[in-house]
Amino acid sequence: MHVTSSNISPQGSLKLINGSRVAVIGGGPAGSFFTYFLLDLCERLDIKIHLDVFEAHSFTKTGPAGCNHCGGIVSESLVQMLATEGITIPKKVIQRGIDSYVMHTEMGVTKIETPLHEKRIAAMFRGVGPLGSEGVEWASFDRFLQEMTHDKGANIILERVKNISKEGRRYTVQTIKGTEGTYDLVAGAVGLNPHSLKLFENLKLDFRPPETTKTFICEFHLGAEEIHRLFGTSMHVFLLDIPRIKFAALIPKGDYVTFVMLGKDIDKKLVQTILESPAVKNCFPPEWDITKLYPCQCFPKINMAGAIQPFSDGLVLMGDCAVSKLYKNGIGAAYFAGKAAATTAVLHGISKSDFQKHYWPTCKKLNFDNFLGKMVFVVTTVIQKSNFLKKGVHRMVQNEQLIEGNKRFMSMVLWDTFTGSAPYKDILLRTIKPGFWGNFIYNIGAAMFGMGKKSTAGKTYRDTKELGKLYRKGDAIVTQGEVGDCLFVIQSGSVEVLHIQGKKEVYLATLKKGDFFGEMALFEKEVRSSTVRALDDVRALTVDKRMLLTRIQDDPSMAFRILQKMSSRIRELDNKLSRIKGSDRRNWDKRKEEREE
Ligand SMILES: Cc1cc2nc3c(=O)[nH]c(=O)nc-3n(C[C@H](O)[C@H](O)[C@H](O)COP(=O)(O)OP(=O)(O)OC[C@H]3O[C@@H](n4cnc5c(N)ncnc54)[C@H](O)[C@@H]3O)c2cc1C
Repeated sequence: MHVTSSNISPQGSLKLINGSRVAVIGGGPAGSFFTYFLLDLCERLDIKIHLDVFEAHSFTKTGPAGCNHCGGIVSESLVQMLATEGITIPKKVIQRGIDSYVMHTEMGVTKIETPLHEKRIAAMFRGVGPLGSEGVEWASFDRFLQEMTHDKGANIILERVKNISKEGRRYTVQTIKGTEGTYDLVAGAVGLNPHSLKLFENLKLDFRPPETTKTFICEFHLGAEEIHRLFGTSMHVFLLDIPRIKFAALIPKGDYVTFVMLGKDIDKKLVQTILESPAVKNCFPPEWDITKLYPCQCFPKINMAGAIQPFSDGLVLMGDCAVSKLYKNGIGAAYFAGKAAATTAVLHGISKSDFQKHYWPTCKKLNFDNFLGKMVFVVTTVIQKSNFLKKGVHRMVQNEQLIEGNKRFMSMVLWDTFTGSAPYKDILLRTIKPGFWGNFIYNIGAAMFGMGKKSTAGKTYRDTKELGKLYRKGDAIVTQGEVGDCLFVIQSGSVEVLHIQGKKEVYLATLKKGDFFGEMALFEKEVRSSTVRALDDVRALTVDKRMLLTRIQDDPSMAFRILQKMSSRIRELDNKLSRIKGSDRRNWDKRKEEREE
């Protein structure tokens, strides 16, 4: 098949114009976010382009053939950001909402609850499910993203790219099945597959691929009931003194629990060592020999240091194959980088200098945060190796968790380090607060002199499978006259918007899944201008004003959708007003005629 059509841009322009052709190689998170935002911006600016996404995997296949090898956890704050962008992750994709984690070291077990209700994490399958899960209705995250880009107008080609060449300003892309096309812009989002990285190295540009190391993932099938009984809505994190291991985690999802090991060059021997450790074994039923029970396993690579020059004229790389996040939130990094590359291409241009000026700063910011992350992990490694430091950490966390309203210095630091809910910069800033070190030193001393506290592990689990807050039919989610500091995005159900005039309720609108409300509070200090009431059971994500404004500062295009919505609401109000004025006028004319008669 030859995908080159007559619709080629006139001169291989270094701007995207009507008729430009774009190839995205790799339809994982980075490729899909890039595609979505590129097509969205082109639509807003009325630029008609052709975009092909080449993807080697079929996300309908179980096991490694249809999966992008990942722990599959995303923070609720990322879910909120995406919802604000109009990307609502369906309920069936989120296998479990996780609201606590159990930290295991050789010195004990401590449960850390989410520091804030809206700081939970979601567990998902990237593919359609582990090997052996055939016939089960799993919903894959990557497939959801792929369908989203298809709905936006992308042409999906499920074939592996085997060659990219450049002639003049254009690139030719060839797949192993013989499909061939010529493009003005090539976006590389191929992850860390060495053969695919070679495609770009072979172009003899200044691009150098990222540094990587080997990790491990496997899935244990226990059945949904057993998973709920053993893990509830908690993930387990293991900080054990085993060389080369940074940390390991057990993440419950549906019928399975995913085991992830991160560190340096993980091999079979290290896997065996950690699976045989009492800390891990004790999480499973005693009759289980877990070292023999993981039919679905892999040793995927992870990005340890960003690529050099992941762009050139008409070419940009993003996600794992360029710059990602150290040990966590790779999906979030793919979103930031994918969107930054798309905004650069549409709003500025596709030359090397455009990407250098407008895309590279996002990568540099990720690189800098990873540098700070390495410092955080130096500290966690020191703690891993010292029994008395580990005792101090356990004691401090247990104390913080025992009393509601306690300042949770250590709990917040640990939660954000292992869940990806905040950048490493914020974590480091938290550790330089005066209370942190004073408290830590006191707890180390107290732990050494045996002033222990009860372990908090084993508390009853709350069922928070879904993210967001649940409101019952008739609940007022927002009340007119109240001070507001967040925006709401509806995940399910519907609400009515009412203006209260004395004892009268004036109906303004009905809002449904995907709609948002409360946005005026983001821009004004005024109180809420209307009441929003649930028409049935409603689940809504709340997006904190500070978080959203910080994101808008980094990426002003975040505000497009909000402005678009506000503008369409003003238009609707104008229409309503002119209808009311029209009917007033007709009534007035009618009354005038009657008077004259
Ligand atoms: C052990 C482990 C655990 C992790 N856990 C988490 C986690 O819990 N949360 C999180 O946010 N991140 C996690 N990550 C990181 C996360 O997986 C990555 O950062 C993220 O997947 C990067 O997305 P991407 O689109 O850049 O690459 P990928 O997800 O790797 O996608 C690349 C895509 O390109 C396709 N492709 C490759 N070559 C070709 C070709 N030649 N032709 C056509 N298609 C091609 C592939 O099939 C694939 O679909 C984890 C990583 C590892 C290794």
